[in-house]
Amino acid sequence: MNKDLSGIGMTSQRTRNRLIDRLRVQGIEDEKLLNVIGALPRHLFVDEALAHRAYEDTALPIGFNQTISRPYIVARMTELLLCQGPISSVLEIGTGSGYQASVLAKLIDRVYTVERISGMLERAVLKFEMLGLRNIQSYHSDGLTGLTQYGPFDGIILTASPTHIPEVLVEQLVVGGRMVLPLSSGDLQELVVVTRTNADFEVEVVERVNFVPLVSGKL
Ligand code: SAH
Repeated sequence: MNKDLSGIGMTSQRTRNRLIDRLRVQGIEDEKLLNVIGALPRHLFVDEALAHRAYEDTALPIGFNQTISRPYIVARMTELLLCQGPISSVLEIGTGSGYQASVLAKLIDRVYTVERISGMLERAVLKFEMLGLRNIQSYHSDGLTGLTQYGPFDGIILTASPTHIPEVLVEQLVVGGRMVLPLSSGDLQELVVVTRTNADFEVEVVERVNFVPLVSGKL
C-alpha cells in the first residue's frame, strides 16, 4: 500500500488497532465495521499538523469551524444504521471531511452525501478520489431539503444537529428505513433513531452527543 495511506508511527496499523480495541470496549460489536475503521486512513481527513492524533478517540477540527466526529460516534451511528440488516443506499447530511461518508462507502452500495460549504466539499471529494471510492455521490446543497431525485433511501444520517426532526427527510426514507441524527433541544443534544412507519415515524433515544449545529443555506 502507498505509504501515505498505510501510515507510519502514530498513524501506523498498530496505533489503529489500539483504537479498534477501544471501540470494542465501548460496545461496538459489528466486526465488518471495526475492520473498515481499522483500515481507513483517518489521518488523511484531518489537518496534517493533527495527523498524529487521528487515531485517538477524539473529535478534531477540520477547518471552516467544523469538526470530524470522534471515531466512537462514527462507529455508533453507522452501527445504528446497519443493525436491522444490510442496506443498499444511504444519504448523509454534512459531508465535512468526508470520513463518515468513506466509512459508509465501504459498507453500503450507494452513498449520497450533501455539504453546504463548497470549499469543504471539494476537499472531501479529493479524499474520495485518493481512496478510490467510486460509490459516493456528493452534492453542494442545503441538506435540509434532502435529495428527492435520488430517494427514497434505506438510511439517512445527519452529522450536524437540527432542533427538530426534519420531516422532509423522513419522507425520503423507505418505509422501515432509519434516520440517525443528533437532535438538539435547549442545551441538550441526543442521538436519536427515527424509523419510518407506514403512516408516521417512531423515535428512539440512544445517548447524549455533541455536534455542530445544522445550518440552513449554502456557502
Ligand atoms: N460527517 C463529517 C463531520 C461533519 S461536521 C465528517 O465525517 O467529517 C458537520 C458538517 O455539516 C459541516 O461540514 C457543516 O458545514 C455541514 N452542514 C451543516 N448544516 C448543513 C446543511 N444544512 N446541509 C448540508 N451540510 C450541512
